[in-house]
Formats: sequence, C-alpha cells, structure tokens
Amino acid sequence: MKYILVTGGSRGLGRAICVRLAQMDLPILINYQSNAAAAEETLQQVVAAGGQAELMPFDVADEASVEAALDAWNTAHPDDYIAYLVNNAGIRRDNMMFMMPTADWKAVLDTSLNGFYYVTKRLLPNMMRRKHGGRIVNMASLSGLKGMAGQANYSAAKAALIGATKALAQECAARDVTVNAVAPGFIDTDMTKDLPVDELKKLVPMNRFGRPEEVAALVAFLLSDEASYITGEVISINGGLYT
Ligand code: NAP
Repeated sequence: MKYILVTGGSRGLGRAICVRLAQMDLPILINYQSNAAAAEETLQQVVAAGGQAELMPFDVADEASVEAALDAWNTAHPDDYIAYLVNNAGIRRDNMMFMMPTADWKAVLDTSLNGFYYVTKRLLPNMMRRKHGGRIVNMASLSGLKGMAGQANYSAAKAALIGATKALAQECAARDVTVNAVAPGFIDTDMTKDLPVDELKKLVPMNRFGRPEEVAALVAFLLSDEASYITGEVISINGGLYT
C-alpha cells in the first residue's frame, strides 16, 4: 500500500494539502512538530473530505527524531511504503542579517533545508527501488528565488532547497521518481499573520494574498499521474508578484 507523507501538516499550507490530497484515495501521514490539537483538526478534516490519515509527530530538524518515527512506522507497516512526500515544514525567524542571532540562522536552515534532507534521504531508497512513480514536492518560496530583505536565513534555506530539488530530480529521474518545488508568494496562514497585509498586498498584481487551497491544488497536480513528465521544476504561485 502506498502512503503520502506531508511534513508540517498540522496548520496552514500543510493542512490544506492534506485535505486536498484526501481525494487521492491513499492514506496520509500528517507530520507536525508540537501542535497536536491542530494536527488532530487536520485529521478530522481529511476524514470529512473522504480520506484516511494518521498523525506522525516528529521534528524534521532532528535527524534522530526523523529516523525514530520512520523506523517505528516501517516496523508497523512492513508491506507499505511512502511513495508521495511533501516537504512542507518550515519556519521564519526574520531579522536584518547584522542583527540576526546565530540560533535563528541555524533554526531556519535546520528546518527547511536539513529537514528536507533527513526525511527525503530516509525515504528515497524505497521510492527508487519500487519504480512505481514516486513523487516529491518541496515547499520553497518566492524568497528563495528573489531574495527578501530581512530574510537572509529563509532565502538561503529556500534557495538551497531549490538547488537540491534540481539535483535530486536528475538523480531519480530514471527510477520514475519526480522531484519538484513550489514557490509561493504571500499566502494567508499563521506564518504571515504578523505581516502588514494591507501594505504588502499592494505589491501583488492580484491585490491579495493567496489562499492555502490554491497552493494545495498545485501540489496535488504535481503529485498526480498527469504530472509524470515534470521534474526538476520550480513552480511559482504568487498572484503575479514575481516571475
Ligand atoms: P505555518 O502556518 O506556520 O505552519 C507551519 C507548519 O510546519 C506547522 O504544521 C508546524 O507544526 C510545522 N513545523 C514547523 N517546524 C517543524 C519541525 N521542526 N518539524 C515538523 N514540523 C514543523 O506555515 P505555512 O505558511 O503553512 O508554511 C508552510 C511552508 O510553506 C513552509 O515551508 C513555508 O516556508 C512555506 N511558505 C509559506 C508561505 C506563506 O506565505 N505562508 C510562502 C512561501 C513559502 P506545528 O503546528 O506542530 O508547529
């Protein structure tokens, strides 16, 4: 049986992705770090949308935590494997670089970039061995394409994630595993709730922030059979803000 794993599935984009993927008719593993109540709410929404899911808490930034959770899952599911992976977990710790604490630099890189590495590396052998159309989608950002003042850590993490997406896509292509990145602009989630929305939306040609469901639809397409010949791409979704 194939499974889907969505990291950071408890809130925001991850929740919308889990709910959208309920339509794929495959069980979904909802990862989160600490917000069990929000993760349970995502699970209920997946079930209400006709899907099946289970919670899988672990810290993507901690390799031992990733390994322990995935080892336990493998032991409990000897005949199953994770064929669809959405590396979505991420955090912001914005500051001008000259004032940025080292801990904030590291925390952002550890979550978005090293988290991608720990989880993906662990799942790749099984995906590649099965040769059954594995799919990986990495949540990058406009910040990783354009660079954003006050986000040197976040821009660095997301730009590196884009580079890794392109390299890994070439490593896996012959095994029928696709690897793509999605680069959202401003999307209405907890991550952006402290931003000056009215000012920032004036920068967006569509004059609004995106909705998590709009990003989820793009992720669902990249995971679908229809996207079988797309790999190594970075797809922007930003209301025309930057192309
Ligand atoms: P969010 O609302 O803040 O949700 C973040 C999610 O990531 C939560 O589920 C959180 O789990 C999880 N998470 C954070 N650190 C984790 C860790 N170490 N291990 C496991 N899970 C962890 O953020 P969002 O806006 O949905 O963002 C999702 C992704 O999209 C991020 O990679 C972000 O960089 C990217 N993105 C967002 C925007 C935007 O405008 N919102 C734009 C471009 C890119 P808990 O609930 O347990 O804390």
